[in-house]
Amino acid sequence: MNEAQAKLTFWGVRGSTPTVDPATWRYGGNTPCLDFVAPDGTQFIFDCGTGLRMLGSRLQEQAGSFAPETHLLVTHYHWDHIQGLPFFSPFYVDRNTFHFYSFQSKFLGRDSLKQVFEAQMALPYFPVDLSAMSAKRTFREVGGGESFQIGTTKITSRWLNHPQGAMGYRLETPAGIIVYATDNEPGDPALDRSLRELAEGADVFINDAQFTPEQLAGSRRGWGHSTWQEGVKVAKEVGAKRLVLFHHDPDSTDRIVDGLLRQARGEFESVFAATEGMVITLGGAESANIHIPGSRSSLRREAQFRATVSGTREDGRSFEEETVVRDVSLQGALIPLSNCPRLQSELLVDIETPGADGERQKMQLRGYVVRVDPDREKGSAAVGVVFTD
Ligand SMILES: [Zn+2]
Ligand SMILES: [Zn+2]
Repeated sequence: MNEAQAKLTFWGVRGSTPTVDPATWRYGGNTPCLDFVAPDGTQFIFDCGTGLRMLGSRLQEQAGSFAPETHLLVTHYHWDHIQGLPFFSPFYVDRNTFHFYSFQSKFLGRDSLKQVFEAQMALPYFPVDLSAMSAKRTFREVGGGESFQIGTTKITSRWLNHPQGAMGYRLETPAGIIVYATDNEPGDPALDRSLRELAEGADVFINDAQFTPEQLAGSRRGWGHSTWQEGVKVAKEVGAKRLVLFHHDPDSTDRIVDGLLRQARGEFESVFAATEGMVITLGGAESANIHIPGSRSSLRREAQFRATVSGTREDGRSFEEETVVRDVSLQGALIPLSNCPRLQSELLVDIETPGADGERQKMQLRGYVVRVDPDREKGSAAVGVVFTD
């Protein structure tokens, strides 16, 4: 058994621009930012979108345990991947050190990322002077096909097909392989090959899924993004174990993302839609564990209803069982079940409610599994569900 553990957390999953539309709250509105803690404790950050601000607050809270040396892998210089930089509070702490990695842009020349940094903090775009950022910063330029080692992690970078260029990253650790490939459009044979080499045998393959196949075939061609269908195709070809649909379109409501995920699951066993707060743990007793924290589910009220719940189990088989729901609101419920449903799968909840004249009435709610806490001793699970209509 492999005891080494790595932890990947999603802080921003939205592409192009942040969204605050309530119809997008479940998957989240912050632009790309992930943090990855390797089994040897080395801290990595992928991209610096608006999700970086929340990560900064979290790291400041844990200042004691936070490794003050962090490696930031930046894919490219479009706003959605850098706009969190000035709002990352650990940059304003002397004792912290940050190592940045990105490519030399032909539009910016030498020290591209350093220039981006300085430009973002320049007057009149930002009120605080760059000198206030007292953390130590180093900048390294990486090219496509380059590999280097940090602690026990091997990092490989490869070019992706995107206007003005973007870099994909592969991190090989003793707990497993993470591949972060966002902002890439299929259709360039050399770069399509490059993406496959990057994603080969990944335990977690995070891929751009901004558009529908119809959009990509139509007006959105050339915008530099991909689809769930392309992600599934690549994942199958390279033997990736899990696919994460990422960089959701700002116009994609939660219902639309649910639909994309449902279609992807029809064609590939293990697909998830990136969700703000989602944590993937690799290695250890279970080869991988995916968790969406409770803060993303809704406010609940105490109540007690008999219900019949039907859905899909982790092994793909369907189930139906009777249970008592004690924790329910208009937005969602926490349901005890003996079957362990698959995360992000659909559940039908038939709730019995007492009618006005004392007769029992049935109400059917369509829900979406956002949390599964298995209790192995009792052989049951507490299942968090968000109602989608
Ligand atoms: Zn982007
Ligand atoms: Zn981009």
